[in-house]
Amino acid sequence: MIEHETVDKIFETASILDVVSEFVSLKKRGTNYFGCCPFHNEKTASFSVSPAKNIYYCFGCHKGGNSVNFIMEHEQLSYYEALKYLANKYHIEIKETERTPEEQERHDDRESMMVLNEFAKNTFIRNMTDTDEGRAIGYKYFKERGFNEETIKAYELGFSLTDRKAFTDFALKSGYQLRYLTTTGLTIQHDDGYTFDRFSGRVMFPIHNLTGKVIGFGGRVLDARTKGVNVKYMNSPQSEIYDKSRSLYGIYQAKSAIVNKQKCFLVEGYTDVLSMHQSGIVNVVASNGTALTTEQIRLIKKFTDNVTVLYDGDTAGIDAALRGIDMILAEGMNVKVLLLPDGEDPDSFARSHSASELEEFIGANETDFVLFKTRLLLNKAGNDPIKKAELINDIVASIAMVPDDIKRLLYVRECAKLMDIDEPVLKDATEKKLNKITYQQLEAAQKERERERRQKEAALQTQTQQPQTALNNDDAFNKRMHELESELLRYLIKFGNDVLFDVKKDDSSDEMVTVSQYIRNELKTDNLVFRDDACKKIFDCYLSIINDGILPQDNMFTQNHDVEISSLAVDLLINKDEVCDKFWNSRNRYIPPEQSHLMEIINRTLYYYKVEIAQQEIKNIGIIIAQLQSEPDSDDKIAEQLKKLSVFQRYIVKLGEKLGIVMLRK
Ligand code: ZN
Repeated sequence: MIEHETVDKIFETASILDVVSEFVSLKKRGTNYFGCCPFHNEKTASFSVSPAKNIYYCFGCHKGGNSVNFIMEHEQLSYYEALKYLANKYHIEIKETERTPEEQERHDDRESMMVLNEFAKNTFIRNMTDTDEGRAIGYKYFKERGFNEETIKAYELGFSLTDRKAFTDFALKSGYQLRYLTTTGLTIQHDDGYTFDRFSGRVMFPIHNLTGKVIGFGGRVLDARTKGVNVKYMNSPQSEIYDKSRSLYGIYQAKSAIVNKQKCFLVEGYTDVLSMHQSGIVNVVASNGTALTTEQIRLIKKFTDNVTVLYDGDTAGIDAALRGIDMILAEGMNVKVLLLPDGEDPDSFARSHSASELEEFIGANETDFVLFKTRLLLNKAGNDPIKKAELINDIVASIAMVPDDIKRLLYVRECAKLMDIDEPVLKDATEKKLNKITYQQLEAAQKERERERRQKEAALQTQTQQPQTALNNDDAFNKRMHELESELLRYLIKFGNDVLFDVKKDDSSDEMVTVSQYIRNELKTDNLVFRDDACKKIFDCYLSIINDGILPQDNMFTQNHDVEISSLAVDLLINKDEVCDKFWNSRNRYIPPEQSHLMEIINRTLYYYKVEIAQQEIKNIGIIIAQLQSEPDSDDKIAEQLKKLSVFQRYIVKLGEKLGIVMLRK
């Protein structure tokens, strides 16, 4: 945890214009700045930055917030990491609050391992420039492979000396502990205590996490020593900080480009990434030589839904690789495949072609994965009917993985044509397969629900809370609650301090009632508490500000330390602003500014809000009565419910009268 004062300082110092400009090119228009949104694909600039309000907002995808929101969203960082990012940018010293001893130890371990990896990375980089061996072997290797200074620097490539104790000894002498040398895997320790470097005599590829910290290394043995060595590459072992199934090589260098291009190229090896990057295709990552995992796919999905997998020209290894792709489909991503010409791999192909040639080749040759797989298997099956039946099953398995109904149907149509079989037959087979998958998913979901239920039960036992009514399970109702509560919050944040009307008191003095007093009072008299979690959070925050005797200002919400509050507040404030400032709607009808008829619009919203809740109660009573009817001797209970029912019905009619709304019967 970062200390409150430090968080305050970060929020105060960070300038949204400054922060956004690093990633988006902005043009000034009036008092605000506009650019193309980094969060959705667009050609016209609908992404706005307001330096005065210190917020950003996109009129296209409605994402908005302050500097912390922006860094979290753009760099895909946690709240904590985003604060650290900004602190680092503005040279603010971070003071952290106390941790429990266990937390501290775990944190210390991870931190120490990262620090050691950083030291190792720098040592390997220096070896390449400052030692004869490094220059003659390591640097020469990268140069011969055609990598320039910029690439070597961007990926922080280095060299580990051939002396088998060089790095371990240097690290120990520099004060690093043996225990971290072994947990990071940089040093291997034998049972008899003898220690030596894991990566001696190798060129080094640091593996970064999303924030650019080195979590592991890949080391490649050099050509002179490859005789008799089966494995050219060696990686850091699994550790507290490095899980190879959850990391992708190059993701740190590629993430902004992936967001920008809304596409990610997936290759196999380190040098594939380097060559593609150097030739200008920056949105590229590698799976570190392991089979692709669901976690790796989700890492990409943070940034884009579109993946293109690159394959070497020889078709031998493709079969096995194809299986991994079904997983990408299952995550709802759009998968394309690019087969390189015979004898080429991404590395060689990128080196022998210019960026524009590469892009042209990709554009002309990348194929949708399902269709690619169908054609490939068709070629293999030839006229063999048994093989063709296998092929259909194989394709059906892939299509069934696609979560989107319409996309799946389109695939069925295309593939039926390709395989020359009846569309209904293929559709039927896909549906059967799908039912099987859905059944498995249902089972998994059921288990999950059961687990949640047990957790809730356990929580109830300790808290002896009243269980929630059926109210909370109605999605449409919850959505309406969110809409109406957001609207009420918007009046509070925007006009909360405006005077709504005067009340003549008994002593004939005037008392002014503000918007916030009016809304609070209306909710309180009917005993209403906000039901939407995010809205309730803002409302409670609003009340606590008022209770402190402070007049709420909109920046208390848009610059709030709670990122859920700030992003919702920006959406509430900006979205409607744009519409109302125009005063004219699309049909050229005049829309008066909200201030001119606040009473009317607030009352209307309150009315809909209360009616919605009352109707939900009536619905619930109906359900209860239906249940009671099947029970013996329930007449009294039913009468009780009916009485409650009429109370709510009268309440709805009264509301209309009180708030001056004429109810029209449908
Ligand atoms: Zn957008």
